[in-house]
Amino acid sequence: MRNRWLLSVVSGLFLFMGTGLSYGEPDAVEKFFPVQADPFMGNWVGRWNKEEEVDPDIAANVYPLGGDQFRIVLKAKHDMRCPPKLDITVKPEGGALRFKQDDWFGEISGDTFKGGHGPKARFEMRRAELASPTLGLKPEHPDRAKVLFDGISTEAWKADSAKKPDGMWTVLPDGVLMVKPGTGDLITKEKFGSCRLHIEFRTPLMPTLRGQGRGNSGVFFQDVYEVQVLDSYGLEGYYDESGGLYKLAAPLVNACRPPGQWQTYDIDYTAPKVDAAGKVVAFGRMTVHQNGVLVQKDTELTWITAWTEKGRLEPPPAKPGPIRLQDHGNYIQYRNIWIEESGS
Ligand code: MG
Repeated sequence: MRNRWLLSVVSGLFLFMGTGLSYGEPDAVEKFFPVQADPFMGNWVGRWNKEEEVDPDIAANVYPLGGDQFRIVLKAKHDMRCPPKLDITVKPEGGALRFKQDDWFGEISGDTFKGGHGPKARFEMRRAELASPTLGLKPEHPDRAKVLFDGISTEAWKADSAKKPDGMWTVLPDGVLMVKPGTGDLITKEKFGSCRLHIEFRTPLMPTLRGQGRGNSGVFFQDVYEVQVLDSYGLEGYYDESGGLYKLAAPLVNACRPPGQWQTYDIDYTAPKVDAAGKVVAFGRMTVHQNGVLVQKDTELTWITAWTEKGRLEPPPAKPGPIRLQDHGNYIQYRNIWIEESGS
């Protein structure tokens, strides 16, 4: 009995401490969105010397894996589905990242990434932010646009009542809506069918985590079709990663930017058509631009983007539904969210 009492006090203490840590938003911002940029992480872009005439561009994604390790992925171009030329994990030495494997070698130091392949081919790269051209985008038709988050008011949203009716996420002083892990999803009070949605987001820096645990959230249409939000920077670009329609369609290319960098989704959503008898006349469709790059082209929504098969086989929604933002336990930040109904 006494042990149980002690256990509950201790676990309560841990819960309290855990709560203090998890919900201490200023701490979270400092921890997951550090002001000081990682010295190596990001996009690198350059050219080979004249020895390489066939495919003279070269690019790299570099990001931390925790434990003082960095992954370097060398490839021909960004935002293109091309196989890596080299995929290597290295540790910094003397303020630089150096590697040598097979015929490849290279060094990242300061603002330069130099290297080569074999006896003659040499390249030099510089940092490239690849900022989204639609950052700060305003509605095309302000008369029929609805602002879902303007940097101040969360009036358009409510907590997903099934989970925690009082749960609202955090509005930060700089006009950012940040997931408050554990409070559950947010859904719009208003329901929508076909629409165009603009949303800006950034994923936290979580170098030690992998896969679905690394900066996970999501933007849902009609409550059930999820455009995945995930830190899948530098990865292949699978159906459960950034730009993917969860478990339904991989992005055409992985246009994910590194954690901490603001990104955009510009999404054209066409609702499914269901007749009065409940028969599906047409599946829904989705076109998605991520950071201005086409990642879903009129993709047919042939099933619900749910985690389990049972969920995926649910019938398409016959009525308008809310836009849903997912709390997957990570501090994702959102801003400048607006919607224009398409009326079809
Ligand atoms: Mg998700």
